[in-house]
Amino acid sequence: MHRPIYLDAHATTPVDPRVLEVMVPYFTEHFGNPASTTHAYGWGAAAAVSAARDRLAQAINASPEEIIFTSGATEANNLAIKGIAEAQMTKGRHLVTVVTEHRAILDPCRYLEGLGFEVTYVPVQGDGLVEVGDVVQALRSDTVLVSVMAANNEIGVVQPLATLGRICHDHGILFHSDAAQAIGKIPLDVQAQHIDLLSLTAHKVYGPKGIGALYVRRSHPRVVLAPQSHGGGHERGLRSGTLYTPQIVGFAEAVTLALGEMEAEGQRLASLRDRLWQQLQDLGDIHLNGHPQQRLPGNLNISVGGVDGSALLLGLQPVVAVSSGSACSSAQGSPSHVLKALGRSDGLAYGSVRFGLGRFTTAAEVDRVAAHTRATIQGLRRSGFGRSG
Ligand SMILES: *Cc1c(COP(=O)(O)O)cnc(C)c1O
Repeated sequence: MHRPIYLDAHATTPVDPRVLEVMVPYFTEHFGNPASTTHAYGWGAAAAVSAARDRLAQAINASPEEIIFTSGATEANNLAIKGIAEAQMTKGRHLVTVVTEHRAILDPCRYLEGLGFEVTYVPVQGDGLVEVGDVVQALRSDTVLVSVMAANNEIGVVQPLATLGRICHDHGILFHSDAAQAIGKIPLDVQAQHIDLLSLTAHKVYGPKGIGALYVRRSHPRVVLAPQSHGGGHERGLRSGTLYTPQIVGFAEAVTLALGEMEAEGQRLASLRDRLWQQLQDLGDIHLNGHPQQRLPGNLNISVGGVDGSALLLGLQPVVAVSSGSACSSAQGSPSHVLKALGRSDGLAYGSVRFGLGRFTTAAEVDRVAAHTRATIQGLRRSGFGRSG
């Protein structure tokens, strides 16, 4: 049985064999607990974790003590949002974020609203970019945190982090960014971009699932946040729990590899992505979602008029593995909150396809996907089947 071509790199990516290779010894031979300080098993694991922490810190221009390992970006976002809200409660109870954020930001914000905090959800423009002036307008004297994602998981749009970070710092407000889609794909620099907290994950960048990190600034300013899990006091007391050495080693290797190849791979992906789009554009009533340039190189998100979204995905399924948006919203069956925020009608929001090209995508695959997508759309339109109206 042959499987469909994988173009869902925003949902997850396979572990690169080079990453797996460096992880394997830490499952078996070097299995020690990095917190065991009384013997060589522990020392070996601790040395591996320490080396990984150094490499990850270097990748974002941070120092190693500023890296807090978590189970992924969801946990990092929860720690950042709830941890800051709890620790800064006496200073203020207002947070600012953006309507197109991932649910791992929006849901903790909703949770905080239930506890009496206030959250302003800044809108985006038709191209998915946040207007800097709208963020400035949302700031209040009791605002403690602004959270804006680096790159969107549905439409790939890259937000102006450096400008936003500078504005937050000028106002004495902490700035957090969810960089789950951005790490290893676009340059990130917590100093140049004035970032105080940064959420990372390994599995979107050819590393293993179940590992990520939160960068927490230690100086200018020193960020204070409340831990969201308590236990053995690991990770400077901010995230207790035995460190998962193989995943941490793999995470660092994945990010290091991605950064080394970032420029060349970015160009390759952008040209494949454009090649796909060029083969679809002339179908008519087909629309690119998100800013045409300021986006991740591997992202192509389109809305197709005159076809029903679920019929389209069903037709694509045997040949290409894609999704209509985020893995979460496609399971819910409601139109994407991101596409709605761009001003897309329900019909065009439902009739959307997110192509996520990745490291192992080839030109031949892109051409096969383009041909099949064309045939599927034309077939659905001819039959009038599943028209969303
Ligand atoms: C995938 C993703 C997450 C969740 O990351 P996990 O590591 O799977 O918890 C959060 N935010 C964005 C933008 C994502 O793309």
